Amino acid sequence: MRRIIYSDFTKEILKLSRINNYSKKIVGYKESKWMNNPFPIYKLEVNKKAKTKFCIVAGVHGDEIAGPYSIIELLKRPKFFKKEIYYQIFPVINPTAFELQRRNNDKGRDINCLNKKTLKSKNYKEIQFFYKEVQNENFDFFISMHEDLDVDKAYGYIYENDFEKIYRKLFRRERKWKTKKIYGDKSDGQGLVKNVHDHSLEDRLFSMGKTKLSIATETPGKLNLERRIIMNLKNLEIINNHLLNNINI
Ligand SMILES: [Zn+2]
Repeated sequence: MRRIIYSDFTKEILKLSRINNYSKKIVGYKESKWMNNPFPIYKLEVNKKAKTKFCIVAGVHGDEIAGPYSIIELLKRPKFFKKEIYYQIFPVINPTAFELQRRNNDKGRDINCLNKKTLKSKNYKEIQFFYKEVQNENFDFFISMHEDLDVDKAYGYIYENDFEKIYRKLFRRERKWKTKKIYGDKSDGQGLVKNVHDHSLEDRLFSMGKTKLSIATETPGKLNLERRIIMNLKNLEIINNHLLNNINI
């Protein structure tokens, strides 16, 4: 698979939305002094009237491409979308980083940070656009799809009050960790880092009570892209089934 530029990526997203009747919205235009044209940031919505809410975010870091590409593959599968679930999808939340093929935005900022400072700073416009969309939300599940480009094993950052089985169903075969720490954070010894409050989107949305369940998944960049996309699609399928099975609880 060849790397595509942001305008081609959005063309594909819009085409698939048109074909399958997903609604689309531009949540903001990310302007950049150093780059041509403002970059529209999109949110796609499916089944707006359903009560169970599933939010899917990708492209927080521009060099972690499996997430955005997984969204394209997901949009090609209209059967994935169940009428009982309201999906809110942010296919690429950091378009300048996607275009520059690097982690941080055009201002050199890591936008995976939602707090008082980033909600005011002109260097974090992406976060402000995102927050405007989610500040009054109550999601049942929030996922932000990341990648770790330096490893060959998958892992995740999870947020829970109790032992939530659903998290352990994700990446079940791919979390081959045997260490108690991942980058200095305590893990369960099987690739799940718990309740690290780092102001990331997944941390803040959970801590602020805007989502019941929250995870950042990290696909292993050392494996090929197709495999990483398959891992993401499988995780999304598992979460989808979980939400369907728990709809009246
Ligand atoms: Zn990342």
